[in-house]
Amino acid sequence: MIIVSACLAGIRCRYDGKDNLCPQVRELVEDGKAIPLCPEQLGGLPTPRVPAEITDEKVINMNGIDVTENFRKGARETLKVAKLVNCRIAILKSNSPSCGFGKIYDGTFSNKLTEGNGFTSSLLAQNGIKIFSENTLPEFSAHRFSRIKTDKK
Ligand code: SF4
Repeated sequence: MIIVSACLAGIRCRYDGKDNLCPQVRELVEDGKAIPLCPEQLGGLPTPRVPAEITDEKVINMNGIDVTENFRKGARETLKVAKLVNCRIAILKSNSPSCGFGKIYDGTFSNKLTEGNGFTSSLLAQNGIKIFSENTLPEFSAHRFSRIKTDKK
């Protein structure tokens, strides 16, 4: 089973109440191969919500409120579900302070990126889950195909 960022599946869970629909990700959910989750909602934050970014390992929203604990909780809850369904692969929205992997917004709310991982992608990766994003779907398909071939041997 694959965990995917809910916004990529067309769920309107983004901070602004919109989605980031990626048809290939939605198809995985429709086919019963993926579960959509939003770590920020699982962490207790409302939708819509004030946008937040990571600065010095804390998550601070645009109003200056520290929402780190919500992000930690969202990551833990996502990992719980991932373990329940024996998830080995996740497709998570790029650049997000929860779901981004490799690059995230730099904490200045100016659309600039810096190296780093979101709280959820980081925790899932630490637990052996391979992370892809909507930008690395060809790599995801290749990885999945190679696993299917290995499992059949
Ligand atoms: Fe999408 Fe992840 Fe942000 Fe939720 S936390 S809106 S799933 S990027």
